[in-house]
Amino acid sequence: MKIALVTGANRGIGFAAARRLARHHDHVIVAARNADSGAEAADRLIREGYSASSLTMDVTDPASVRAAADEISDRFGHLDVLVNNAGILPEATNADPKEVLDFAMFEQTYATNVLGPVAVVEAFLPLIRKSPAGRIVNVSSTVGSLSHQTDPDSPWHAMVVPAYQSSKAALNAITIVLAKSLADTPIKVTSVCPGWVQTDLAPGNKEQAPDTPEEAADVIVRAATLGDADATGTFIDAHGPVSW
Ligand code: NDP
Repeated sequence: MKIALVTGANRGIGFAAARRLARHHDHVIVAARNADSGAEAADRLIREGYSASSLTMDVTDPASVRAAADEISDRFGHLDVLVNNAGILPEATNADPKEVLDFAMFEQTYATNVLGPVAVVEAFLPLIRKSPAGRIVNVSSTVGSLSHQTDPDSPWHAMVVPAYQSSKAALNAITIVLAKSLADTPIKVTSVCPGWVQTDLAPGNKEQAPDTPEEAADVIVRAATLGDADATGTFIDAHGPVSW
């Protein structure tokens, strides 16, 4: 039985990715920090004919993450795909423009975008190791690319959301070290940029972003269904490789 789990899958890109993964897998687990919201999203997938269930998991709470991994261990005994999708961009609404480096903003952003995936991978890796072809997908962003941040010709060069950008750069670094440390296993680890997507991540996204969550889900599914001969430790978007 092939099983996929998506964090923050109750809405936005995570929900769309869970729905798309449900087509490729025998069962999809909608992980969400709010139990009711997760159950509603899983019910929606079930009504659409997919095999789905919900799992309560707040990625910033290590006890919640460990309990969630124990539950999946008891229910399924293994995990084939883990998508670290849960993420926040509080700077888009709450940043103090006078503060270049705002400690509280970094703390809040890193807790979800960096330490969250670390806690989730640490807890779920023993289950992913039991899969014949484990895949870990870290939902990152081109704004986290150090190459783009330092290239004056890049459209991303002028963008300044320090906590968010550096959190995604850190997530990318985690993808690289994880891929290297798992290189002698079948597990592949990939960073993906979903594009600029119509979600509630930042004000104006729903009106201004060009991509739908369904379109964004494509690249996540591509990374989740890499073949055994495909490379691990890459950073991709809808158009191909993204420079780190
Ligand atoms: P949304 O704000 O629509 O969804 C974010 C999801 O993350 C929600 O399900 C939310 O749950 C969940 N979440 C937040 N904090 C936690 C937590 N502590 N524990 C568990 N779940 C949590 O954003 P998107 O769908 O746009 O974002 C998904 C990912 O895509 C993020 O990692 C984001 O950085 C990335 N991304 C998005 C882009 C875009 O243009 N939208 C561009 C590039 C990257 P809840 O409903 O409970 O708040």
